[in-house]
Amino acid sequence: MTTESTQNAQMGAPETSGKTNLVGLSREELAREIAAVGEKPFRAKQLWHWIYHQGETDFAQMTTLAKPLREKLDEVFEVRRPNVSREQTSEDRTRKWLVKFDDGNEAETVYIPEDDRGAICISSQVGCTLTCTFCHTGTQKLVRNLTSDEIVSQFMVARDSYGEWPTPRDGGRMISNIVMMGMGEPLFNYDNVAKALRIIMDGEGIALSKRRITLSTSGVVPMMEKCGEDLGVNLAVSLHAVTDELRDILVPINKKYPLKELIRACRSYPGANNARRITFEYVMLKGVNDTEADARQLLRLVKGIPAKFNLIPFNAWPGAPYECSTPEAMDKFVRILNDGGFSSPIRQPRGRDIMAACGQLKSASERERIRRMTQRIEQLVPDDGEAGPAAGTTAGNG
Ligand code: SAH
Ligand code: SF4
Repeated sequence: MTTESTQNAQMGAPETSGKTNLVGLSREELAREIAAVGEKPFRAKQLWHWIYHQGETDFAQMTTLAKPLREKLDEVFEVRRPNVSREQTSEDRTRKWLVKFDDGNEAETVYIPEDDRGAICISSQVGCTLTCTFCHTGTQKLVRNLTSDEIVSQFMVARDSYGEWPTPRDGGRMISNIVMMGMGEPLFNYDNVAKALRIIMDGEGIALSKRRITLSTSGVVPMMEKCGEDLGVNLAVSLHAVTDELRDILVPINKKYPLKELIRACRSYPGANNARRITFEYVMLKGVNDTEADARQLLRLVKGIPAKFNLIPFNAWPGAPYECSTPEAMDKFVRILNDGGFSSPIRQPRGRDIMAACGQLKSASERERIRRMTQRIEQLVPDDGEAGPAAGTTAGNG
């Protein structure tokens, strides 16, 4: 059964204390803050351990610090979590948090459990400046970058929810992986994302290995190499189409960085090898990108790249201009990729009942925009009853 709870539910922006929040500061910034109140550098190290290894938010409980120091810190600083306006758990145990930040903006964080581990899907922006036509987030108007604090805090909120403090050793964690695949384009908010991931990867705190972190991009070509060099995390690329003509519509950033450039950037992604492959995400859209010819062209496109595929059944959202491919079409598609030497799992949609599945992350729908984009797609793929987006999907939504 779907369960839902409201914690700290507040309608307006939460009150702030005026104290400096220590969460989201880099190690150097934390050291500077501590130096500024006249304390020695090793205090910053101790605090880091309390905040990110122990998950402690109350200075009074930081027992390795002398009591007067705890009181002093409490006067100036805080270790704050954002409010969680809503927490929902799906029938399949997927959990979603609607996290509310100080300015009242909200972002969604999703945890996808497996048997003894699981991935947390973190948002990098409120909304997204890009307008991929199959993605619910892309229809959201309000956009701002999340700060490093807000990105790290999504992870902390999930840890709190599962009581996973102090940080368990690697191999014994429920929240064992991170995918930067929530709302937003992480490479458009690179500095904050990089800062947050460095905090999360730091060996004296949350200590999550870069091998357990995957960043998904729609193809911000100029930032890809830097991401690989600086962070060394796994890369996933939202490909979704094998021709520029179709990708220009599905993933409009393609007009700026077309397939040839994108593929070149994948080919030279630092650290990619057969053991650490680049994931190509491909959303299965009925009659739009799911033919056998598409699958064969996909194989040609990634030739020579250490690649794997992630076929995502399209997750519908209210007013969406597409339908998911049929099981038969997906089977044929997979078979061609298999014959080409790739195991290509079809990603099981998770958390559909709480709108937590890929591309469903958004707070309200904007029908007029969707109607307009439907028209554009219909121009490209004539609706003959088989191909193209089903008319029924959008009827009455305009
Ligand atoms: N902006 C980044 C990361 C967030 S989107 C990116 O585009 O890669 C995460 C993944 O979900 C992307 O592969 C995206 O294409 C996919 N996605 C978006 N909407 C979807 C939908 N309705 N159904 C299935 N997958 C979707
Ligand atoms: Fe933004 Fe990614 Fe959605 Fe495209 S798929 S609109 S890049 S979140």
